[in-house]
Amino acid sequence: MSKKYAVIGHPIGHTMSPFIHKRLFELYGIDAEYGVLDINPVNLERDYNEILKSLDGYNITIPHKQAIIPFLDGIDSKAKMYGSVNTVSNNDGFSKGYTTDPDGFLKALEYAKIPIDGRVVILGCGGVARTMAYEVLLKGVPFEFAIRAEDKEMAEKLISEINQTLDNPKVSYITIPELSGDINTLINATPIGMSPNTDSQPISDIQLKKCANVFDAIYNPLETKLIKNAKKNGSNAEGGMSMLVWQAVVSHYHWDKSTYDAGDIEKLCIDAAKELMSR
Ligand code: NAP
Repeated sequence: MSKKYAVIGHPIGHTMSPFIHKRLFELYGIDAEYGVLDINPVNLERDYNEILKSLDGYNITIPHKQAIIPFLDGIDSKAKMYGSVNTVSNNDGFSKGYTTDPDGFLKALEYAKIPIDGRVVILGCGGVARTMAYEVLLKGVPFEFAIRAEDKEMAEKLISEINQTLDNPKVSYITIPELSGDINTLINATPIGMSPNTDSQPISDIQLKKCANVFDAIYNPLETKLIKNAKKNGSNAEGGMSMLVWQAVVSHYHWDKSTYDAGDIEKLCIDAAKELMSR
């Protein structure tokens, strides 16, 4: 009998999850259905009991990543630290929550050979920047947020939260125009360059030439202006589709202990980008 999985969110029309997860089930030879469930927040508790408990597992996107937690039987330590769950496995009546964004980020960097050492700069201080910040600091590497002048309060709030969560984290912030000097790894966690504004780039060409490695969280387009220019400069550069796909891969590890060939995942990234462009 087919196993049953889904992604839940609200609204959820444009999700890439079915495309990516169906391929991952096929690659590991698991007979599974993967659906899309639009769950209004007011119905989350009812649908948790009537629908979600009967699935083998599911992914969670906005706005349910925090709201689902009180219903689950357990969450792993990383999901607890982030206060966020994007993957649930139901095993023998026990529901367990995980967050796979952090490992998706680390795997994407690892496979792109982008190091987390030397001078690391994260552009932006929103949702994805928060995940990246914790993961860099958990590796014992200091870094700087580079932000817009109007986001100072937001950066200070995030840094204060990090200071309360981690032991002696070395994190500071500057504004993007203040950026100067050599950077070993630059990470874009802003939406600058995302479709349809594909002609924008978060930092100057001059500063980009001083960045040895560049990772852009944006996956639409597959290669942002930042990534194209970084590659032209001879820098090592990778776009965000790999992070999106790797965080899905990590969900399959939690569901079925599935493991994958890196070449198959690379091909899936390219096919997912084609799928995204065809929509
Ligand atoms: P978010 O929470 O809105 O954070 C975006 C950050 O960038 C905020 O600090 C925002 O400041 C800042 N920002 C926005 N416009 C800016 C500008 N013109 N100049 C400088 N800073 C600016 O968004 P998010 O969820 O972190 O997502 C950020 C990007 O990452 C999006 O493109 C998203 O698609 C991508 N993403 C990719 C993955 C993946 O798996 N590859 C996962 C998650 C997100 P304000 O709050 O003041 O606007």
